[in-house]
Amino acid sequence: MTTEDNSEKRILIAEDDPVSCRMLQAFLTKWGYQVVTAANGSDALRILEAEGAPSLAVLDWMMPGLEGPQVCQRVRELQDRPYVYILLLTARSQKADLLRGLESGADDYLTKPFNLQELRARLQVGQRILDLQNGLIAARDELSFRATHDSLTGIANRGVVLDAIHREHSRQVREGGTLGIVMVDLDHFKQVNDTYGHQAGDAVLKEVARRMASCVRPYDTVGRYGGEEFLVVVASADSVGALALADRICREVASAPVTTDEGAVRITASCGVAVSDAAKPLDSEELLHAADEALYSAKQQGRNRAVLAAPAVPVQSESSPAEPTPVKSESR
Ligand code: GH3
Ligand code: MG
Ligand code: MG
Ligand code: MG
Repeated sequence: MTTEDNSEKRILIAEDDPVSCRMLQAFLTKWGYQVVTAANGSDALRILEAEGAPSLAVLDWMMPGLEGPQVCQRVRELQDRPYVYILLLTARSQKADLLRGLESGADDYLTKPFNLQELRARLQVGQRILDLQNGLIAARDELSFRATHDSLTGIANRGVVLDAIHREHSRQVREGGTLGIVMVDLDHFKQVNDTYGHQAGDAVLKEVARRMASCVRPYDTVGRYGGEEFLVVVASADSVGALALADRICREVASAPVTTDEGAVRITASCGVAVSDAAKPLDSEELLHAADEALYSAKQQGRNRAVLAAPAVPVQSESSPAEPTPVKSESR
C-alpha cells in the first residue's frame, strides 16, 4: 500500500464514551483504517482543521464542548480544504432532529446501537465517494494545467503570460513602481530544424524553456509567446534589473550545447527588454511593442545579446514609423 493510500484510509472517531470509542477503534483498525480519536467536539474540530486531516470522520452527536452537528458545520465552513466525509452517530431520541444533523453538512448517519457491518459498509460508500471526488479533482487540475501551460515546454502559455502583463500593469497603475518585460527569440532556430530535424528542435525548445525558468524569481512569469519566442514578465523590475535578467537568460541559454538524439545543438537567444516606470509609464501594448523593437535591434546588432528599449517608445502609427533608440548590452 502506498503512503497516499494510507493517508486516504485515515479516519477520525470522535466519541466521548471511552468504551464505545475503544470498541470502534479496535474494529476500524482491524478493517485497515488508521484511526485518530477525539473525546470531545473541540478536539475533533482541531484535528479536522489541521493540515493533512483524515478525510473520513465518525462523529458522535452528543459530546461535551461542541456537538457532532456543530463540528460538521464548522468543518464545512473551511475553505480550500479536501472534502471530509462525515458520518454522524445519533441516539434514537435524536432521530427526530436528524434533518438538523444532515443540514449541518453530515453525509450520513447511523442510529445507536448500530450494526458494525453496516458501519463498515457505509464507510466503504464514503470512501467510494471520496475516491470519485479525488478523481474529478485530478481531472479538473489536469484540464486547468493544460489550459494554462504550453504542451511542449510545460511553461505558461501565451494567454497566461499576456494576462500576467495586464495584471502587473494594473498593479503598477494602482500602486506605482516599475514593470519590466523581456521578449526572447532563439537565434537562427530555423537552421536548427533544418540541420537536426524538427524533433531535435522541439528538444531544444524544451531545454531553453527550462534554462530560462531557472533564471527568474518565483513571482516572475516565463511563458511561450509563440514558436521560438518567449516572454518574461519581471514584476517590479527597473531597467537595470530587467536588463540584468535578460543578460542572465542569454548567458544561460548559450551556456552549453543542448543534448538531443541528433547530437549536441548550440543555441543562443536574443532579448528585447522594455520597462514601464513612473517617469514613463507604458501600457501592456506599448511594453510589448517596445520590447519587440528592442529585440529587433538585438538581432540587427549580431544576436546573442540583450537590448533595452528607450524608456518610452510610443506605439507608432503607420504614417510615423518606429524609430527605436536602443541601449546595447553585450551578454558575453
Ligand atoms: P532569427 O535569429 O532571425 O530569429 O532566425 P530564426 O531562424 O530563429 O527565425 P525564423 O522566424 O525564420 O524561424 C523560426 C523557426 O522556428 C521556424 C519554425 O519552424 C520554428 N518553430 C516554431 N515553432 C516550433 C516548434 O514548436 N518546434 C520546432 N521544432 N520548431 C519551431
Ligand atoms: Mg456521546
Ligand atoms: Mg521568431
Ligand atoms: Mg528566431
